[in-house]
Amino acid sequence: MSDYKFFKQVNEAFDIAAQYSDYEQGLLDQIKVCNNVYHITFPLERDDGSIKVIHGYRVEHSHHKLPTKGGIRFSTAVNEDETMALAALMTYKCAVVDVPFGGAKGGIKIDKSEFSDDEIERITRRYTYELIKKDFLGPGSDVPAPDYGTGAREMGWVFDTYRQLVSDLNAEACVTGKPIPQGGVRGRTEATGRGVYFGVRESCRQTEDMKDLDLEPGLEGKTFVIQGLGNVGYHAAKYMTEGGAKMVGVAEVEGSIYDSDGIDLEDLINYREETGSIVGFGNTKELESNTAVLKEECDILIPAALENQLHEENAPDIQAKIIAEAANGPTTAKAHQILKEKGALIIPDNYLNAGGVTVSYFEWLKNLSHVRFGRMEKRFEENSYRKILNVIENTSDRSFTELEMNELAQGAGEYDLVDSGLEETMVNAYNELNELRKKHQIDLRTAAFLSAINKVGVIYEQMGIFP
Ligand code: GLU
Repeated sequence: MSDYKFFKQVNEAFDIAAQYSDYEQGLLDQIKVCNNVYHITFPLERDDGSIKVIHGYRVEHSHHKLPTKGGIRFSTAVNEDETMALAALMTYKCAVVDVPFGGAKGGIKIDKSEFSDDEIERITRRYTYELIKKDFLGPGSDVPAPDYGTGAREMGWVFDTYRQLVSDLNAEACVTGKPIPQGGVRGRTEATGRGVYFGVRESCRQTEDMKDLDLEPGLEGKTFVIQGLGNVGYHAAKYMTEGGAKMVGVAEVEGSIYDSDGIDLEDLINYREETGSIVGFGNTKELESNTAVLKEECDILIPAALENQLHEENAPDIQAKIIAEAANGPTTAKAHQILKEKGALIIPDNYLNAGGVTVSYFEWLKNLSHVRFGRMEKRFEENSYRKILNVIENTSDRSFTELEMNELAQGAGEYDLVDSGLEETMVNAYNELNELRKKHQIDLRTAAFLSAINKVGVIYEQMGIFP
C-alpha cells in the first residue's frame, strides 16, 4: 500500500476530520475503503496495424448510495492510486453538496495527442465494453462523466456503446456530460467552472473572513491567477471575470504569464489557438517556469489542472490569500499546512468543484424522467431570452422565426433551471460548511470532510451490514 500516496493523502485529511465525528473506527474504515477496484488491460489495433496495450481503471469507492458517480480521465498520470483517491473524493464531494451518489472514478493511461480520433474512439468504446462486462456501468450502478482529457464527444461514445449492447429503457442515464442531442443537459459543460465562481463569490461575501484576510468583501476588483485553461479553468476564469474579478496570471503546460494590469481571457485563448502557446501574449511578462506564476501577487489563486500542484517547495512563496481548489487534490497535505499557517483561506476541492457532478445529477434526472427539462409554456419576448441565449452560446445577432424562438426558449428555460439549481447548491453548501467550521474551529477542508463523514456515516449505520 506504500505506493498509494494520493489516496493516503485523502485519507489523512479524512482522519483529521474524523476526530470531530462520533463514529467508531470500524465504521470510519468502512467509509474510507474503496469497494471495487478494477484494472483493465486491452489491446488497441492502431491505425498502422500495430498493437498497443492500453491500461484502464474504474474504482467504485462507496456504495452507500447508488449509482456511484465520477468522471473518466485520459492522462499519462492515471494509475490505481490516483483513481482510488479521486473516487474517494467523489464520495465526499457528492455528500457535501447532497447529490445522492456514491463516489467513483475511471481513467485511461494515455497521452491523447499520440492517438488519432479514430483510435481514441476505439479505446473509449472498448473500455466501455469492459466496464459493461464487469457491471461497472449502468444508470443504477455506476455512471461516468467527463474529466481531465475527456468531454461530451467521449461521453457520447460511452452512451452509444452501452445502448448498442444493453437493452435498457434508461440507457441515456448511463453516462452524463453527453452532447445535448444525445440527452445531455444545457449548462453541463460550464458547470464545474461556474460552480467554482459561485463558491468563490460566496466566500468573498463573508465579511468577517475578508476582514481577517485584509481584503474588501465582494468579488469586485479582486485579482486572480489561474492554473489550467481546460474546461474547468476556462469557465472558472470566464465567470470570475464577468463577476468583476481581474485575471492577472495564467499557468499552462507551455509556460506561465503575468500582467498586473489584467489579461483578457478571450484574446488569450485566440492567441493560444494561433500560436500554440500563451507565452508572449500582449504585455504579459513570461516567467521562468510553467508554475512560477503561482507565486506571483494576487488575491485568489485557482489551481484548475491536476493534483499536487501546490506542495511544500512552492507553498511558502505563495502570496494569494484565497486558494480556490478547482482541480481535484491540487494541494498536498504539507502545502495545506503551510498555507494555513500563513493565514490563507483554502476553499477545498471536495466542495468547490462539485458543480460538475451537481449538474450531472440534473442530467441523470432528466434522462430518467424521459421528459424535456424546463419546458416553457410561456412564449418569450425575443429580447428577454436573448440574454440567456448569449450565455449558452454566442448566438449571432439575427432575428428568429416563431418556431425557432420557442425551441430556443425551451433551451434557455433548461439552462436557467440548471443554473439556478447549481447556484443554490453551491451557496447552501458553502454556508453549511462555514457553520461547521465555526462550530468546531476547523478549516473548510476539515469541515467538508466532517460534513461528508456525517452524511455517509449515518447511511451506513442505518443500513446495517449484509449478511
Ligand atoms: N469529473 C467531474 C468531477 O471530478 C464530474 C463528475 C461527474 O459529473 O460525475 O467532479
